[in-house]
Amino acid sequence: MQKNKPDVLILGGGVIGLACAYYLLKAGRSVCVLERDTIGSATSLGNCGTITPSHIPPLAAPGMVLKAMKWMLTPDAPFYVKPTLDPKLITWLLKFAGRCNDKDWRVSSLAKMGLLHQSRRLIEEIVNEEKLDCEFGATGMHNVYKSQAGFEKAAQEAEAVREFGLEPQILSGEALAKDEPALKSGMAGAVHYPGDAHLRPDLYTAELARVVRQMGGLIIEQCEVLAIETGHDKIEKITTCLGEYQAADYLFALGPWSPAMMKSIGIDLPVQPGKGYSITYTRPAIAPKRPIVLKERSVCVTTWGSGYRLGSTMEFSGYDDSLNRRRLDALERGASEYLHEAVGPLKLEEWFGWRPMTWDDLPILGASPNYKNGWLATGHGMLGVSMSAVTGHLLADLICRRTPIIDPLPYSIQRF
Ligand SMILES: Cc1cc2nc3c(=O)[nH]c(=O)nc-3n(C[C@H](O)[C@H](O)[C@H](O)COP(=O)(O)OP(=O)(O)OC[C@H]3O[C@@H](n4cnc5c(N)ncnc54)[C@H](O)[C@@H]3O)c2cc1C
Repeated sequence: MQKNKPDVLILGGGVIGLACAYYLLKAGRSVCVLERDTIGSATSLGNCGTITPSHIPPLAAPGMVLKAMKWMLTPDAPFYVKPTLDPKLITWLLKFAGRCNDKDWRVSSLAKMGLLHQSRRLIEEIVNEEKLDCEFGATGMHNVYKSQAGFEKAAQEAEAVREFGLEPQILSGEALAKDEPALKSGMAGAVHYPGDAHLRPDLYTAELARVVRQMGGLIIEQCEVLAIETGHDKIEKITTCLGEYQAADYLFALGPWSPAMMKSIGIDLPVQPGKGYSITYTRPAIAPKRPIVLKERSVCVTTWGSGYRLGSTMEFSGYDDSLNRRRLDALERGASEYLHEAVGPLKLEEWFGWRPMTWDDLPILGASPNYKNGWLATGHGMLGVSMSAVTGHLLADLICRRTPIIDPLPYSIQRF
């Protein structure tokens, strides 16, 4: 057993665990982060690094079920559900399908709105205050359309998101060609979201960890949590491969691994792994100057000073850890339809990650059921980087019994 008990033991050293550590330290609490591997080495590593209030509207939108069914007939489509008898996945998919209507779309959008706008502001604040060297850029983002019909529909739909505090700007094909020379000629147009930003996710987690350590936080890597011991209404201790740990409070930030660990103490989390892929290269000579989403192919392209990444796909196939060649190739093929230089000179890494997906597209934040010193911060799906700072701030507020930065009710596990 360790001698000095921290105030808060944080399980999981991804972007969420580290953001929570940062805000807890800022609030004057001592923290210790336990990470099975090295910090930021899992889902928080090879993602696209975009910070996107523009993603306020959830995936579960009217028409999505039909679209998904069509995609399932196309082997390299960006969305795939593996045929399954797993009751958890089937229930999850049915719940997701049940939300593909106007009313629930709006409910999820309004709940995501608060998180994403606050987080966008807070991330820039941390980057500036702590001088995070993570290639942050407040450049906005383009959703690019090749087809005229797709562009016209998107331009119309963009009006609806003004209600959520977004300010989309419509760029004609001509304006887009002038603005972004990396694109091939003949694009129909783009919707520009000026409030979006981006950073390099591996540097962001490394820099958060640096600041956490500087502020006196302890981060223990190669420390796998093996078991959680509970008492009547409290978590008593954590057993790891390096020994036992205790704290006053326990915060679970285990990303896609949350359901199994939480189940071991009787907490049921409706989180499924939504597998995505990315390929990282050295930077092409003509690279997009801001993140762009190639909409018909659902490929996200992010350029940093130090590199270039293509990322996409949403695959529900359980915890399948294979790299699917067809899907990786589809990223390059999709990008080559839009970009003069679709790939960089040198391929550095092919990667997959499991997004921790909830069916209502909202994270699970706040007090755990059953245990008065247990806290949950998971289920961030496609937006863990974007929501990192507000998650950390909110969890610190709740644990420290301060006025929360945002009403926590929509994100409570009690909603399920
Ligand atoms: C292809 C792709 C692109 C994406 N692009 C974006 C994007 O552009 N913008 C955005 O906002 N989000 C994006 N995301 C989503 C984002 O990556 C995730 O939401 C986020 O990384 C989740 O962070 P986390 O800290 O919850 O999980 P993780 O980063 O997975 O952290 C959980 C940590 O817990 C550790 N752990 C697990 N089990 C144990 C154990 N037993 N003991 C100790 N430690 C343990 C793991 O090793 C891991 O480090 C993308 C995801 C994918 C897959």
